[in-house]
Amino acid sequence: MTAAGLAAMLPRSRCTIRLVESDEIGIVGVGEATLPPIKNFNDSIGIDEADMMRATNATFKLGIDFVDWGFEGSSYVHPFGIHGAADSGHRFHHQWLRSRAAGRDWSVEDFSFAIAAARANRFAFPASNKQAINSTFAYAYHFDASLYSKYLRRISEPRGVSRIEGKVRDIEQDPESGDIRALVMESGERIAGDFFIDCSGFRSLMLAGKLGVEWEDWSKWLPCDRALPLPTERCGDLTPYTRVIAMKAGWRWRIPLQHRTGNGYVFSSRFIDEDKAREELLQSLDEPTLAEPRLLKFQAGRRLSSWRRNCLAVGLSSGFLEPLESTSIYLIQVAIMHLLPLLPTRRHDQRLVDEFNLRMDVEYERIRDFLILHYHLNSRQDSELWRYCRSMDVPESLERKMHLFRHSGVVPQYKDGLFTPPSWLAVFLGQGLMPEHYNPLTDAMPLEQLLDELGELRADISDRVEEMPRHASILVRYANAAQPSDALLHEAEMRL
Ligand SMILES: Cc1cc2nc3c(=O)[nH]c(=O)nc-3n(C[C@H](O)[C@H](O)[C@H](O)COP(=O)(O)OP(=O)(O)OC[C@H]3O[C@@H](n4cnc5c(N)ncnc54)[C@H](O)[C@@H]3O)c2cc1C
Repeated sequence: MTAAGLAAMLPRSRCTIRLVESDEIGIVGVGEATLPPIKNFNDSIGIDEADMMRATNATFKLGIDFVDWGFEGSSYVHPFGIHGAADSGHRFHHQWLRSRAAGRDWSVEDFSFAIAAARANRFAFPASNKQAINSTFAYAYHFDASLYSKYLRRISEPRGVSRIEGKVRDIEQDPESGDIRALVMESGERIAGDFFIDCSGFRSLMLAGKLGVEWEDWSKWLPCDRALPLPTERCGDLTPYTRVIAMKAGWRWRIPLQHRTGNGYVFSSRFIDEDKAREELLQSLDEPTLAEPRLLKFQAGRRLSSWRRNCLAVGLSSGFLEPLESTSIYLIQVAIMHLLPLLPTRRHDQRLVDEFNLRMDVEYERIRDFLILHYHLNSRQDSELWRYCRSMDVPESLERKMHLFRHSGVVPQYKDGLFTPPSWLAVFLGQGLMPEHYNPLTDAMPLEQLLDELGELRADISDRVEEMPRHASILVRYANAAQPSDALLHEAEMRL
């Protein structure tokens, strides 16, 4: 993604991009669920959506279904969209709280277009009329990450990226400045450069290995440290959402792709051993397995800075946050996007470095707090992990957000970083945190009028969703991986 992004946006006259990777080491390759900003990234580097989806066996994603999270038997969707009408702004959930106080037992999910579509297994592109209820959502993809990286390679090599196959044996550093000067390959080849982007995954060869940037451990808040990913056969009805199901010592995911289903168990080795986790995962699967689960080990946290000297780390080499909210590929994308306006024109400029690191701190910490929220706000009684998470101290930044919502239904809006108020609202309510009061301004509208408006909105969403195509059928028409020669329908034709 980094090479593809830079090759698409930087004039060739200004730099030469060389990408070093090793087929023998390979990639982690388990990132299958993405977030809506990936579409902006793909658009900005000139990727044709349907073509990419066919090449990666992709499906559409409208959100994430959290099963058994707040308490056993519960289910809520974190949608890629707002609750309420297009122009509801922050008013909607206060109006909904008032309707509850008046005795209406409407589920908040009935007021989210994205959730209603997801639950009905339907998909259509968002309407371009921003006032329309069916414009109130965004979408992302589930895709085969290994195929996506191959796809990016195919479009990036003709744009000037040269790929060097082989293993890095050593990293040369300037003894005076501390800058990285060159990579030395096992073959003996020496690759010199001005600026190095460390995309070496958990190894963090340059940033940690050579420059010694320290790790900040967040595992006291996010105790999961193992994953057992495994593919199963394609599921019958392709859902336009990821499902994440809470388990006794973590959670498992289920991601529908066109050719198979991605599954895996993310767990904490403090609360379950590997054999037991493997057994629980295998027992929980709905489709026949296609491979053996392989164990991945990690720790939640990040490098204290992502950029030091002339080396900037992107992806797992800069940090790891578990895939509960599909944020890792987003963090790669956002690192590239933050780098572009800060590209160095001389060897070292500490102000650029500090600015980049500050922006990435905000990104990481916002995501960290959002993930912790899912664990902390639970009333599960069945196991030690959930009891631990419920009683643990959380970062002050998160404590403050929970307090504001609990006491007055306020969801803070910040300028930078992922997860805007609609996401926080969905997870607060989904995990069972109900505000004690709604905002008194809501009483300005007569109650009867408010109930009528909400009732109409609810019915409108339901009617519109009924008119949408099934997710599986739109995939066949728009991006059928099995029949790449199928006629391409354009976005405009697919809109409601
Ligand atoms: C269980 C799990 C599930 C995940 N699910 C999701 C998800 O649903 N959504 C999401 O957004 N993210 C997810 N992620 C994260 C996602 O997999 C990664 O962010 C993504 O794969 C990018 O990884 P990377 O490129 O940083 O590292 P890697 O994929 O590990 O790539 C490292 C590269 O460096 C090369 N390399 C390393 N050492 C050397 C060397 N000595 N010489 C030469 N080359 C070398 C390797 O060959 C490879 O090309 C998940 C992660 C895990 C662990």
